[in-house]
Amino acid sequence: LMGQMMTDPLLVSSLITHAARHSGSTEIVSKRVEGDLHRYGWRDAELRSRKLAQALARLGLQEGERVATLAWNGYRHLEIYYGVAGSGLVTHTINPRLFPEQIAWIANDAQDAALFFEATFLPLVEKLLPALKSVRHFVLMTDRAHMPAQSAIPNLLCYDELVEAEDGRYAWPTFDENRAACICYTSGTTGNPKGAVYSHRSSVLHSMGAAMPDAMDCSSRDVVLPVVPMFHVNAWGIPYTAALVGFKLVMPGPHLDGKSLYELFENEKVTFSAGVPTVWLGLLNYVKANGLKFSTFKRTVIGGSACPPAMMKTLQEDYGVEVIHAWGMTEMSPLGTLSKLTARQLERSPEEQRHALEKQGKVIYGVDMAVVDDEGRELPWDGDSAGNLLVRGHWVIDRYYNLEDSPLTTVDGRPGWFPTGDVGTIDADGFLQITDRSKDVIKSGGEWISSIELENIAMAHPDVFEAAVIAARHPKWDERPLLVVVKKPDAALTREQMLAFFEGRIAKWQIPDDVVFTGEIPHTATGKMMKLKLREQFKDHKLP
Ligand code: ADP
Repeated sequence: LMGQMMTDPLLVSSLITHAARHSGSTEIVSKRVEGDLHRYGWRDAELRSRKLAQALARLGLQEGERVATLAWNGYRHLEIYYGVAGSGLVTHTINPRLFPEQIAWIANDAQDAALFFEATFLPLVEKLLPALKSVRHFVLMTDRAHMPAQSAIPNLLCYDELVEAEDGRYAWPTFDENRAACICYTSGTTGNPKGAVYSHRSSVLHSMGAAMPDAMDCSSRDVVLPVVPMFHVNAWGIPYTAALVGFKLVMPGPHLDGKSLYELFENEKVTFSAGVPTVWLGLLNYVKANGLKFSTFKRTVIGGSACPPAMMKTLQEDYGVEVIHAWGMTEMSPLGTLSKLTARQLERSPEEQRHALEKQGKVIYGVDMAVVDDEGRELPWDGDSAGNLLVRGHWVIDRYYNLEDSPLTTVDGRPGWFPTGDVGTIDADGFLQITDRSKDVIKSGGEWISSIELENIAMAHPDVFEAAVIAARHPKWDERPLLVVVKKPDAALTREQMLAFFEGRIAKWQIPDDVVFTGEIPHTATGKMMKLKLREQFKDHKLP
């Protein structure tokens, strides 16, 4: 007997249709490049997305073609997410912080047919123009009044003009839910970036998973400000989850400094946010320096790199903000695990609970994970056995765009697992703890030392602004940990004080051999510490 239920395909357009019908007047507030604040409701966003879909058809874009963006978090970018994917085209959000050569490479690899961009990036696009081989239409995301008098870009189109010329009499098409909705590239710290192509089905399922109480735990009562950019794995899916849940969305545009963010949090009564650890460094510094408090902000997801426990403590104890630590990657749309306590964990001591929350947490239904040894045998969930982390699930890639070879491998002989390149442990509660990227593990005399664990300790020192641990060559032990520290302004921290801080906090043999103080730690386009660059920079460092 077959089930006898309706089988509408899971399409991205169904999310915004739902929001328009059931949360039509719930606001979307955007700080624009122009500096002012724009506000409208989900009903208006859906109408403008439909008009955009009409405009895209008028430009002659064909089913499946890629439409790229170089844009901040804002309502026009949101309309592009829905107007493009909803009409059967594919969004390709490009990270403008990548090197220009990488941007051109990615745009050519994805065969982008159109490029929508904000005024901030006009000089960049003008420079890239000769290298963009496939782009037929260039659209500046602004109104007529803000169009440049002249530009090196021939036939530069105006976004608002395109949208406003249409009548909105357009019905979202129905098609196979397995068709591509968007494409995101990995940041490519090693070699060329690789494309992950999300389907409509995977995007809708990911949004449902993200909204669950043990995941992002957000509802229509929330006001959500994604600091994570829409060019970084779709702002972790928040623009889709927002429509599905029907919450108020507040978007900061390019205004990401502590002061601008704080004002937006307060003025719009933001309750929930999400971002990588480095953005919180800036915001917390501003709030602390000015003796401020948050009046509505209650919860935030932090991920993309390990969230230092010291940062969690500050947010929780000084500002009353609950931190949900999350782990994921571009290849997983990106959410994999989040740290929310289970009923059993809630019965344990505050110390044990804190320790659990510092981990990366449990998987969402729809994803499974395993840690394996070098022969692909699954390791026990004892919180201690560290191994290579593999995943599978509805929103995990099964191949890369344009690449022949399958990245998948086996767990205990069972095929279909994606190797994440991360190393971690899983405990009896099912909580994942990431100890390293496999490339960043420090191998000292055959034993592994977790660079993340050492960084977390260093970050707890009140004089430390940022810390990275890398492997330094050692004649006897092969590799030993070297700690690279950026001090807080005016801090008088010495090497000896820093090393003494590790005593009693970790096994003696794992304490770094040396400390170097530096002015700045380089970051990737997605805000991760660039350890590859640090290793190069300190490759000749002589350990004492
Ligand atoms: P994203 O674009 O989501 O940052 P990337 O694919 O660039 O994803 O990077 C994913 C990698 O970032 C993971 O494989 C992992 O190494 C690291 N990462 C993400 N979240 C965390 C976390 N909470 N703790 C430690 N590492 C993390």
